[in-house]
Amino acid sequence: MNTKVEFIKNIPNEQALKKSLHHIMIIDLASKKYPFATELKNKLKRVGKKLSDLNKTPVTTELDNGSIISWIGYSSELSPFKMHSLIRKGFNILSQEKPTEILITFLPKNIDEAWVDASVYVSLVNSQALPNHKKDVKVIELKKIFIVGVKKYDLSKTLALVNGNTLTRNLTITPPNNLTPTIYKAKIKQLAKQHKWVYKDYSMTQLKKMGAGAFVAVGQGSEPEDAIIVHLKYTAKNSKKTIALVGKGICFDTGGHNLKPAKYMSGMHEDMNGSAVVLGILQAATESKLQVNIDCWLAIAQNHIGPKAYKQNDVVTALNGLTIEIVHTDAEGRMVLADTLTMASRKKPQAIIDFATLTGCMHVAMGDRYSGVISNKSDFACMAVGAGVESGERIASFPYDEDYEDDLESQIADIKQCNLEGGPDHIHAARFLGRFVENNTPWLHVDLSSSNRKGGLGAISSDVNGFGVGFGIKILESIIKK
Ligand SMILES: [Zn+2]
Repeated sequence: MNTKVEFIKNIPNEQALKKSLHHIMIIDLASKKYPFATELKNKLKRVGKKLSDLNKTPVTTELDNGSIISWIGYSSELSPFKMHSLIRKGFNILSQEKPTEILITFLPKNIDEAWVDASVYVSLVNSQALPNHKKDVKVIELKKIFIVGVKKYDLSKTLALVNGNTLTRNLTITPPNNLTPTIYKAKIKQLAKQHKWVYKDYSMTQLKKMGAGAFVAVGQGSEPEDAIIVHLKYTAKNSKKTIALVGKGICFDTGGHNLKPAKYMSGMHEDMNGSAVVLGILQAATESKLQVNIDCWLAIAQNHIGPKAYKQNDVVTALNGLTIEIVHTDAEGRMVLADTLTMASRKKPQAIIDFATLTGCMHVAMGDRYSGVISNKSDFACMAVGAGVESGERIASFPYDEDYEDDLESQIADIKQCNLEGGPDHIHAARFLGRFVENNTPWLHVDLSSSNRKGGLGAISSDVNGFGVGFGIKILESIIKK
């Protein structure tokens, strides 16, 4: 990150403020005296708005010297999601002009630190360069953010979150020819070296030997056979707790022999988003020295067609010995995750959280504004919903009752991969995955229906939004406190 953040405790006078061209002013809705009050009052009068409207939509004013101010109304009662969205709207107005410097002035006296964190987060995260192969792409080169009216404090957690989210979006946006499993593996090795994570991987040859038939069923359809399970470890200084994070990393999903039509195959390079979220969380946790050990498992493969690719009605044996009847080759996510969850749970972590763009059904249920979770422990699901509220990355919980599994009864194998009759596939997928979690490990499954929302979501302006990194850090913090 090339942007520097500097604090200025005392609010300068109007003349001094005018020296900067791009401003965000966060204002107390009850205040009477503040800089450039006339300009704001005139603007509000002109557009028929009141000061109290500023905590719904920001307005902008221009000063006689050409400076632009984006006005935002402060309220300690806004949810983190609303706060993020409001600040993003205010920042977007300025970012169109590609500023090199912005001033964020906090006018209220007792400002909640969450507002300062959110302002820094939103401004920085939306100024990061993302993969783009246009010849004349224009990026924001924000060199400095001044935080005015606030005493200096440690922003390292916020900066780590910016870096984590940016890593996730970068990987997810990367075109599929630039992120095959072979290339992805090399990138992860590089990250592991940089952050001093212990790196280990399991190749197709090893996985076949181990009997990880569910993962291999998907990996065998690619040439070269470069599908891989990567295991990374972050060790905290003073923690005995270990949490396993598992990520789905399908670098491209054609649907397999049950081929997706063009409209639905487009964008399927983003099917590795779950693994990118896990890497984003791991990086943010490392940079902010989070006090919990993290065991990461990334299931990386492509879902291809070809003479060796798995077919409907194949029966395969998973690592834990369960036989699976293949029903639909596009349900490859749960296949690669099944064996990966077994491997993760055999290390006996305190809990497992998996992240996956898993089912279209979750998308139908939630739209792209929320992601859904399902857990084998109800208090874990409740904790996730809370972490969703606190992080501004919203989460809803779905049921995990045993009788849903009746729908996965197979005549020829221990379990069916899914069913073709429709119904709640997001719950079926969770029931299926649950069969591969060993040692009764508390497990939370995150189905990332909100990983891509046109026009952005919450704090993030890009369609691919890195949803899950903020949530992931928040839930790890909740686990540490427990
Ligand atoms: Zn699929």
